[in-house]
Amino acid sequence: MQSSTENLFTVETSKSIFEEACTYIPGGVTAHIKYMTPHPIVMKEAKGSKLVDVDGNVYIDYLLCSGSLLTGHGHPAITEAVTNQLHDMGTTIFGTPHLLEQQMAKRVIELYNGIEMARFTNSGLEATLLAIRIAKGFTGREKLAKFEGHYHGGYDQSLISVNPTMEEAGDTKRPTPVPESRGISNYYLEKTVVLPFNDLEATIQLLTENKDEIAAVIMEPVQGGYIPATQEFMEGLREITEKYGIVLIFDEVKTGFRVSMGGAQGYYNIAPDITTLGKVLGGGFPVGLVGGRKEIMEITNPISSRDILSASVETNKEKNGNKDSVLFHSGTYYGHPTILSAGKATLDLLEKDGILDKTIERTMWLRQELEALYARYGVTMKTIGLGTIFNIVFTDKEILNYRDMQESDFSMRDKIDRRLLELGVYIKPLTRYSMSTEHTQEDLEKTVALHEQVLKELTN
Ligand code: PLP
Repeated sequence: MQSSTENLFTVETSKSIFEEACTYIPGGVTAHIKYMTPHPIVMKEAKGSKLVDVDGNVYIDYLLCSGSLLTGHGHPAITEAVTNQLHDMGTTIFGTPHLLEQQMAKRVIELYNGIEMARFTNSGLEATLLAIRIAKGFTGREKLAKFEGHYHGGYDQSLISVNPTMEEAGDTKRPTPVPESRGISNYYLEKTVVLPFNDLEATIQLLTENKDEIAAVIMEPVQGGYIPATQEFMEGLREITEKYGIVLIFDEVKTGFRVSMGGAQGYYNIAPDITTLGKVLGGGFPVGLVGGRKEIMEITNPISSRDILSASVETNKEKNGNKDSVLFHSGTYYGHPTILSAGKATLDLLEKDGILDKTIERTMWLRQELEALYARYGVTMKTIGLGTIFNIVFTDKEILNYRDMQESDFSMRDKIDRRLLELGVYIKPLTRYSMSTEHTQEDLEKTVALHEQVLKELTN
């Protein structure tokens, strides 16, 4: 792998591939997340902590497929597990039950406080969508409460108030539901209560006002993977949702296996009613999981759900007019054995020799070095995060939620990220840093040195 240098940096091949892609693919990207201005960088190869683009530039990767690749690119143990699985099965997928899906479900149940039963999906998006449906089916209520700035996948109800402008967002203590996309019907706006993260008093007030209609509160325990909930907030939220019979959903698609093996719920020692997982669980392949309390999860049981539903559901069923008490959950590829073999190999790696804790320690090292560096250059900056994910924020204020973030200096961050890209640090401008077990001390030291180079240029 050739090393990129300041003078040699060119992305002309990326640019021309992107321009042609725009003929066939709207915007040249198959997902908004892959887009950046002036054009995305097209990759051709990756290994461990490194990405190589089509022009031959090498980058230390801190995007890591939006955090999925906790064990880096192309870990040999994962490649071997998948290869063996394909060989042993003689196929790619059975489309029937298989042993690995129950073994993996059991393993997740053992790790997560809030999971007694689980089902797989193809993505984090599908997991949260199903979690919300289960909560609505279980309670018979129709509203969803979600937090401003929290992302749970790109579908209708979850795309409310993810990234609103301050003009749209309204009162801090009573955020206005704002659709993130065209095509979201008013129904979802009417049925969504938007809550202010880390503001317990306002959250309790809004939940109390809507308590008989709210089926679930869904949250990222660490917003965006880098703004942790306070312990007090988590405890207060658990208490109030329990009091009102509201299903508490922890969306741990980002935090699962990254904050601790047992996710953020292990770290906070709080069990939600439903948990969603994805990303790391697939070892780089698409996966999702929805799990929760047995009583709740059993409503997805195709055999007996008509008989075993709790009395509350039977009552609410009459109320909301549901004819059929079976909660539908199905997908051609759910519980895909090839993908689960990658997931199993990933969990095996993470559980060996305290490697996750060591990665968390290395993340802290990088954060502290960067903070010390920026302080030496007199630039106001802080890192925020938990476990193996963090973000760099230009502010001296405490960051507790989406609105605090909006007040930080994004233009400074953007300038630095773009220059770092040229120097060989891959972070999509303004995105969080995700670490992997494969980032070496040398990678981290180089990252700090490149930040210093950028700082020298900017402060001269
Ligand atoms: N939930 C959270 C917290 C996420 O971060 C994401 C993706 O970034 C999703 C859900 C959706 O997951 P996927 O992209 O696998 O559909």
